[in-house]
Amino acid sequence: MIRKAKGFYETFDRKEPGTKATHYCPGCGHGIIHKLIGEAMAELGIQDRTVFVSPVGCAAFCFHYFDCGNVAGPHGRASAVATGVSRALPGKVVISYQGDGDLGAIGFNNAFQAANRGEHFACFFVNNSIYAMTGGQMAPTTMLGQRTTTTPFGRDPVKEGYPLKVCEMLNQLDAPMFIERVSVSDTKRIMQAKKAMRKALEIQRDGKGYAFVEFLSPCPTNWRMDPVASARFVNDQMEKVFPLGNFRDRSAEPAPVANPVPRSTIEELLGKGHEGPAAKVDPGFKERRFKFSGFGGQGVLSLGLVVAEAAGASGRFVSWLPSYGPEQRGGYASCSVVVSGKEVGSPAVDSPDVLVAMSQQAAEKFAATVPAGGVVIHEASLPEPKAREGVRVMAFPAARIAAEAGTPKAANTALLVALTALDLHGLPLEKVLAALDASFAAKPALVERNRKVFQAAFDWAKNNL
Ligand code: SF4
Repeated sequence: MIRKAKGFYETFDRKEPGTKATHYCPGCGHGIIHKLIGEAMAELGIQDRTVFVSPVGCAAFCFHYFDCGNVAGPHGRASAVATGVSRALPGKVVISYQGDGDLGAIGFNNAFQAANRGEHFACFFVNNSIYAMTGGQMAPTTMLGQRTTTTPFGRDPVKEGYPLKVCEMLNQLDAPMFIERVSVSDTKRIMQAKKAMRKALEIQRDGKGYAFVEFLSPCPTNWRMDPVASARFVNDQMEKVFPLGNFRDRSAEPAPVANPVPRSTIEELLGKGHEGPAAKVDPGFKERRFKFSGFGGQGVLSLGLVVAEAAGASGRFVSWLPSYGPEQRGGYASCSVVVSGKEVGSPAVDSPDVLVAMSQQAAEKFAATVPAGGVVIHEASLPEPKAREGVRVMAFPAARIAAEAGTPKAANTALLVALTALDLHGLPLEKVLAALDASFAAKPALVERNRKVFQAAFDWAKNNL
């Protein structure tokens, strides 16, 4: 019977309001697969709890068609997004709809790992053996000898490898509950495709785990054929390379149950000293944005972490965002810290109120980012960095103070004093000291040594700042 599937919106308003035709080309398999999904959602009574994840590709506008929850995933990431949705919203029926470029190339690892974990969603994989939306380039599923815009003489296995057989590869995994390859090239095959799709959705309805259905689907436009020849191409050519059939059906088995996770308190997970109070909204507290920067090994990230810990323990909202190169020692390192009286909107700090620079490179890189009214504190042995007008630039002899106090590596602790003595972080001294001590919980011998550096720096600050 020719009629609109119940799971569709009344009209497809992608182009203009009131449009009844889809945006797909005549003879395209996407429209058929969409109709099967729309019918199955309604027939199984799952429409109101279905979340559909659209891919990037010709089917990027699925949300214009399906009258259910909709999320658009980035290219190749629909399986990752579906994982997030199904984990965050257990009980929903989640569908990841992906093409062969999307799933078989850029998103293969996402899709493969999700299948291997047995995530709770149905993955509908549309294989038309070509990159369609971008103009007919070779896809991972392009067949040997098949001409595309990037294989004008036909796919050559020596240069371009072999077509990826996704069902066969997923069938090596233990977790999937259901794997089947179907076709939408003629009525008989469409009926079988509908059965496989329903089964995959029933598995989701019953909360049983991962189901995968691959649809061999015509793309008349990029194959440069008419719809009838395209359907024949699927039957005569594609099925030879991608045989139809069920690879696995474990839907009659009970749903696997995860081992219970023992309830752990934050203290058990992180150790004592981390169980700070819940942050409280305080409109009177001026938000402070810090950038701590230098080389890896100077303790730049730890310095920022001590400020962040002290802020958390003081009931402030706080974020700590590190950034560093791949080197363990000597590479670039910085962290951004935001201390606030309200929820932190973004942890990124592009214009810090306070910059602490422990290396010349860091001072040169970030000094100009501090706006008027801000503060730049730099290690005194470095040349004075160029800052904007209205910025206070302060040289702090952190390295010398730390060396004279007997722990040259604790220059970062001396710099913590500069912030504390000038009350740049707005945090109580006892919270700062407690956070400093806690940062050496794993190396208790360093607690006293850093306290000594802190005191020496404090004495210097009293006399000099
Ligand atoms: S380009 Fe191919 S896959 Fe894309 S809508 Fe047209 S026929 Fe369908």
